[in-house]
Amino acid sequence: MAGATKATVDLEALRANVRFVRELVGKGRLILACVKANAYGHGALRCANAALQAGADALGVARLDEALEFRQNGIGGRIVLIGPESLEATNDLVRADVEIAIDCADRLEAVLRAGKASRRVPIVHLAVDSGMARFGASFEEASQLAVRLSQAPEVSWAGVMTHFPVADTDQQRSVEQWRRFHALLSRWKTRGIAVPCCHAANSAAIMGLPETHADMVRPGIMLYGIPPGAAFASGKLRPVLRLETSVVALHWREEGDYVGYGETFRCNRRTLIATIPAGYGDGIPWTAGNRSWVLVNGRKAPVVGRISMDQTTIDVTDLREVHLGDPVVLIGSKGDQAITANDWARWCGTISYEITTRLRARPCEIRYIE
Ligand SMILES: *Cc1c(COP(=O)(O)O)cnc(C)c1O
Repeated sequence: MAGATKATVDLEALRANVRFVRELVGKGRLILACVKANAYGHGALRCANAALQAGADALGVARLDEALEFRQNGIGGRIVLIGPESLEATNDLVRADVEIAIDCADRLEAVLRAGKASRRVPIVHLAVDSGMARFGASFEEASQLAVRLSQAPEVSWAGVMTHFPVADTDQQRSVEQWRRFHALLSRWKTRGIAVPCCHAANSAAIMGLPETHADMVRPGIMLYGIPPGAAFASGKLRPVLRLETSVVALHWREEGDYVGYGETFRCNRRTLIATIPAGYGDGIPWTAGNRSWVLVNGRKAPVVGRISMDQTTIDVTDLREVHLGDPVVLIGSKGDQAITANDWARWCGTISYEITTRLRARPCEIRYIE
């Protein structure tokens, strides 16, 4: 592919971010690297292997197919399905030795049946809801499942997990949530239940709530060098993704001319408009029109008009000199200027997670830095 738009994924930066997680949580804890959704858009297989090289102990996925891609490409280590899949996927998950999060008796039964059918001992984590209400058994259901799991030799009970809805925005509430969850596990222990590996912390909790690190942590967004929210400094995180394109059309427009669909931008002077070959078909949010910035030749220039499917228009009138083919940075830095996934998220009313996961809408050239 020789298109103008290129993504660069810096795997050494990703490895450095895994090592940063290790620094924060210490040697005694396990790291489950979340590489779901194509590693947040960065390329599942390459990122998974890099995370493992850097000392991650397990991989976190959200779908059967994500786990199978890893198995088919020779990844033999621990893979944990951290969310709900259809019950029909259970047989294939068990056969692929994927560890499964269990939230209800039906799912446990499906896992036990799959174990019997494939003559394997399935590995499960008990998912407990402690405030997210998306996936996980209520405390009461979880207590029943814990009793059942502690007495079932035909299944290997490898973990107990919960998830924080506001670790990035409300540490107080998250600590209270953690205490309730922890107290539940303590009650189980006093009833003689041997509670296995406990895990809860996502990136925001890893960086901001050390008391929740427990036995294993589940970093996602921070592995890609993106701070988990506005309240977090990037600190030691190293950005992994760089997205760059170039000017493919360049024209002076007259005062009073409109730019783009909907005539949402009107030139209030003679205006030099640079067009780049990336639009919402490439994952740039449509809502970025008239409210975002890119780096042209290392200088910030505003996006004007609506984002099209295949193109975006930039006002480069105030830049000293612009030519066809000049580099345009969408995500990344140049000189002392930088544009981050969090910037796009802020401009577009979304979160960095959505910005990076959607970038593969149209394939572009991807270069991996080993
Ligand atoms: C995606 C996910 C994570 C990782 O969250 P980040 O905020 O990206 O660190 C952790 N746990 C569960 C259950 C998840 O679904």
